[in-house]
Amino acid sequence: MTINTQLFDRARAVIPGGVNSPVRAFKAVGGTPRFISRAQGAYMWDAEGARYIDYIGSWGPMILGHGHPAVIEAVQRAVTEGLSFGAPTEREIELAEAILALMPSMEMVRLVSSGTEAGMSAIRLARGATGRKRIIKFEGCYHGHADALLVKAGSGLATFGQSTSAGVPEEVVQHTLVLEFNNVAQLDEAFALHGADIAGLIIEAIAGNMNFVRATPEFARRCRELCTQHGALLIVDEVMTGFRVGLGGAQGVLGIRPDITVLGKVIGGGMPLAAFGGSRAIMEQMAPTGPVYQAGTLSGNPVATACGLATLKEIAKPGFYEALGAKTQALVQGLQAAADEAGVPFCTEHEGGMFGFFLLPELPRNYASVMKSESAKFNALFHGLLDRGVYIAPALYEAGFVSAAHTDEDIAATVAAAREVFAKLR
Ligand SMILES: *Cc1c(COP(=O)(O)O)cnc(C)c1O
Repeated sequence: MTINTQLFDRARAVIPGGVNSPVRAFKAVGGTPRFISRAQGAYMWDAEGARYIDYIGSWGPMILGHGHPAVIEAVQRAVTEGLSFGAPTEREIELAEAILALMPSMEMVRLVSSGTEAGMSAIRLARGATGRKRIIKFEGCYHGHADALLVKAGSGLATFGQSTSAGVPEEVVQHTLVLEFNNVAQLDEAFALHGADIAGLIIEAIAGNMNFVRATPEFARRCRELCTQHGALLIVDEVMTGFRVGLGGAQGVLGIRPDITVLGKVIGGGMPLAAFGGSRAIMEQMAPTGPVYQAGTLSGNPVATACGLATLKEIAKPGFYEALGAKTQALVQGLQAAADEAGVPFCTEHEGGMFGFFLLPELPRNYASVMKSESAKFNALFHGLLDRGVYIAPALYEAGFVSAAHTDEDIAATVAAAREVFAKLR
């Protein structure tokens, strides 16, 4: 029995499924999860000492790679000053100022501890600020596991969503309308029917939880126009894309101005930190200045803010995203060439340090078409790469991440591994 198998058995005895977040369990791809013992730069090592080139990067935060010296130093200094105070600190102001300086649509920001918390609070804020109940989300977009957002489409536009999780009463999701991503006609129809009742529309403008699917410019523009026309708030969930696809996030790439932006992942640099923000008028609806309640014992934690600040300082340096984008492009081009050589249907997407690939002849535009991928083929690719020391996300509906620590050699080694696996996939 391998060490990873032993650890998985032990874990399953005391933690449901052996993991503290479901996708880590390898349920979609089968096999035994690797228990990671340490990471440095672009690499992670498992409990057996096997090394992997890491394209998950803790699901997005590790944009500088693991153990960046400036980040580690900032965290070590913060730790010696105190782990948590439950009182305001100057570092929270510094991080807020740094975020606002980089995101022109935000005038004020509230720091929280997870993307789920930030998304949930953004929904409450939209409802509180508009005095309305209904929200729109899109199939395939993930906004954390708050009750009102664990929803799939009901039958037709007149019926609201059905919960995707046990333990969420239908009353809780009855105000959530789930629409198809990139379907302008359906969006128009939904606003025509329900516009006066819609508090907010929440979207991943570059969706990273159905692999990688970009909102078309027309669709993104229509989301903005319809929210403005009907007095609903546009919430852009940039937990994954914020400071990942570029300094201005997906809203910068697509040229849309949200009313509320949700951030996480990169802004914590690997520590539990997330945020939501928008205009002063909207954000002042939050307690203690306004009637919308939200709070957190560890919000704005001094170690997490030190980690986030040090990370933001590095990524704001000139040329950072050009270099990162070039690496990501080299990776997806190499993978495409390897797949083409082997005659495997394949296509890719990328922006900044985020990429997606599909075992499909053309890029999907929505969740249903992403799910046409053959999962058996993906699973073979996943395990083939893992066996060759390349760690991609263990599910075909996840995006991938390149960090500043990935070298040309790492990318060449990844492409070489993929070439071997593709040859067997045909
Ligand atoms: C990861 C993610 C979340 C949830 O963040 P957690 O920190 O895992 O709670 C929300 N929205 C998007 C777009 C995400 O990618």
